[in-house]
Amino acid sequence: MPPLRSSAVTLRSIAYGDSDSIVTFFSRDYGKVSLMAKGARKSVKRFSGILELFSVLDLVWTQGRGKGLCILQEASVVNPFEGLRTDFSKTAYAAHWCELVYHWMQAGHPQPAVYDLLIYVLDRLSEGALSDEVLHIAFQLHFMRINGFAPTLDHCVKCGKPLDRFKGTSVAFNMKKGGVACARCHAGAPAPGGVSKGTVKQLRWVLSRPLSTLSRVRFSGQVLEEGCRVLEAFVPYHLGRETKSLKVLKHLQRGKITPLKKLNSNRGTH
Ligand SMILES: [Zn+2]
Repeated sequence: MPPLRSSAVTLRSIAYGDSDSIVTFFSRDYGKVSLMAKGARKSVKRFSGILELFSVLDLVWTQGRGKGLCILQEASVVNPFEGLRTDFSKTAYAAHWCELVYHWMQAGHPQPAVYDLLIYVLDRLSEGALSDEVLHIAFQLHFMRINGFAPTLDHCVKCGKPLDRFKGTSVAFNMKKGGVACARCHAGAPAPGGVSKGTVKQLRWVLSRPLSTLSRVRFSGQVLEEGCRVLEAFVPYHLGRETKSLKVLKHLQRGKITPLKKLNSNRGTH
């Protein structure tokens, strides 16, 4: 079998034996793939320390013997996303998005739309071109859309009433049904965890437009807080689990982690 090649994002790395690593990548052409990186932790020359999390690399790998893991043969850096390593908040967002991709993507199933989405948000996050929270909202919405779980934001998920005809300014979110619910369908009153109608409209705007248009809109602090809160509940509900990195991110957003603790908990997630 000839060597396989693809660009890929490094999602996870675990030590194997004395000097090797098993590295899981999300490749553009082959989807999620775990490769044996022989000598990765011993020889500086072997991969020159480039198998860092979140880095985009060009990879070459070959089939291992028998049913063993494929072997990483060559790796060269396309984009190291340096900006993600010097700011703990950015590290936490990148770790969370990569963990969602790690858990949701099936090995060997290419998902180029998810790959392009991940590269886009990591690149903007690293550059600081858009706010971390705007990128967080955009990533979650489009990740769910590509995977067929886009939240319903323009009408009640139970009775179909258009959002514009909802009474009041607070809108309830029905996690199970996957979208907004009018007051009558949501036990007669908006839930305490509801969000404003304005937030729902902005989430809808983000969901319906290309990522390249994100910079055209200003998001208020309320929209960012509510948008992040509802999506950080919505995505794990449909994924079926809350990732470790989301717990770190939530503590960070609430200011519960001091810089030293932040560093340690980040290391603990990988
Ligand atoms: Zn309804």
